[in-house]
Amino acid sequence: MRYAQKQLCAECFSRFFERRAWRTVKNSNLFRRGDKIGAAVSGGKDSLVLLHLLHKWHFNPVAIAIDEGIRGYRKHTLGHAENFCSENKIPVHVFSFQDEYGITIDKASKKKKAQGPCAYCGVFRRDLLNKKARALGCDRLATGHNLDDEAQTVLMNFFRGEFSRMARGGAVTGLVQSPGFVQRVKPLLLSPERENVAYALINGIEYSDAECPHARTSYRASIRDALNSLEEKYPGTKFALLRSHEKSLPMLKAHFGAGAEVGGCGRCGEPSGNAVCEACKCLGELRG
Ligand code: SF4
Repeated sequence: MRYAQKQLCAECFSRFFERRAWRTVKNSNLFRRGDKIGAAVSGGKDSLVLLHLLHKWHFNPVAIAIDEGIRGYRKHTLGHAENFCSENKIPVHVFSFQDEYGITIDKASKKKKAQGPCAYCGVFRRDLLNKKARALGCDRLATGHNLDDEAQTVLMNFFRGEFSRMARGGAVTGLVQSPGFVQRVKPLLLSPERENVAYALINGIEYSDAECPHARTSYRASIRDALNSLEEKYPGTKFALLRSHEKSLPMLKAHFGAGAEVGGCGRCGEPSGNAVCEACKCLGELRG
């Protein structure tokens, strides 16, 4: 752990890793007593480490998985998620883009729209996770976002001038409120991706390391490579970026009216700050 100038044995590392995640849960009040917790799982290292911790801490999570319809990839990763859940007796529910929206990400990627498949994928995944977590009666939806994901998102939003999106970041995500939103939380926000891999290996968590075929062409992949090379040269860069984002969060939230109550989308009725929600806009584009 070059950023902390630390070298730990497997046992001490696991303890250190768990304490850091627990501190995030406590310090940011991610869960309240009696909350029903949904966990978004894909079968990759981050989501299975998250599920392992929630299970170990006796939160009785419900796993929610999304099949975006990506050939040669998602079925494989979902297999790992289902195995993990069955071994640990965790209920798991799988929902697909095809059933919900009548389209898969593979089909969307062939439509040659201005936006790449990842833009549609992210919007539909957020929408579907929220709907299904709410339908399952969850009070919180935990996601496996790690330090690398968050640092990449901060930088991408900054480069694009998307400051209102920056205001939604942090361990407790979102800006506006609606009874239709299930609060999303990120217990692994301070865990570097490499350490999620190490923790999974040490603790015998069998995850899928398959990479989505659409990932290579994404803007995020370029940002990830740039950040990794900066981290290599200047250890601690990703933590520094997160700290600087944290400092600006109160200002951003105040500026963009955090906490305001929003109504429903004019087409589907899902909570939205705009007349038409992002998922309906994307569907309109894809069908147009
Ligand atoms: Fe979806 Fe893009 Fe991630 Fe693939 S890389 S799962 S298309 S967001």
